[in-house]
Amino acid sequence: MKTLIIMLLISLSMFLGTFITFFVNSKKEKVLGNFLGFACGIIIALLIFDIFKEVIEELNILWLILLAAIGFIISKLLDKLVPEHHEHNKSKESKQKNLFHVGIITLVGIMLHNITEGIALFTVIEHNTSILLPFIIGIIVHNIPLGIALSSPIYYSTNNKRKTLLYTLFAVLSTLIGGIIGLFFSPIFVKFNLPIYILGITSGMLSYVVIDELLPTAKKYNKKYYIAVLMGILLMLLISIL
Ligand SMILES: [Zn+2]
Repeated sequence: MKTLIIMLLISLSMFLGTFITFFVNSKKEKVLGNFLGFACGIIIALLIFDIFKEVIEELNILWLILLAAIGFIISKLLDKLVPEHHEHNKSKESKQKNLFHVGIITLVGIMLHNITEGIALFTVIEHNTSILLPFIIGIIVHNIPLGIALSSPIYYSTNNKRKTLLYTLFAVLSTLIGGIIGLFFSPIFVKFNLPIYILGITSGMLSYVVIDELLPTAKKYNKKYYIAVLMGILLMLLISIL
């Protein structure tokens, strides 16, 4: 129980990203483009320096490709179920619906990411206290931009703070779901090394979110989105050096 409370406190850091989104609260489309680009940079860095590396180290590159492909296809199918992947016209309403779609697909990707992270976090808190602190700092640091990635499309499309907070809460709670899975199934998960397979699938889902949702949307709102993408990657590199 104590572990789950610690986990809740850590995952609440995602709300910081949401508050940053509220605080900036600019109606300018360029700012939205920058926010999304920045979040893309963070997720790209997270994938390349963190998740891909971990899956290759624990399994191998073929497994990574296979699992990532599964995750990518799952997201693609999911994308078809959630309407408004494309704008139907240039009207403001259609644009907002499309932006909301981006938010939902991003939310699902982040939720799966958080569930895997929750399982890992639970195992670390219970069994591996020596690496606990760097692990927690790592999670908090990337939770903030993930919070921005998830909140900005939802907030900009709905202009509704309460709704945006609710969606962030879903993402936060999914970390706890991971913890509860860890609590009950820890022996099975450890025995078959399941979290690493789920992480592989998650990497495919997050890749889809970046390639098919966030990057094209960032580009649409700000032609110079790539500067924000680079800033996001650089920030993550800097943090990993510290
Ligand atoms: Zn889509």
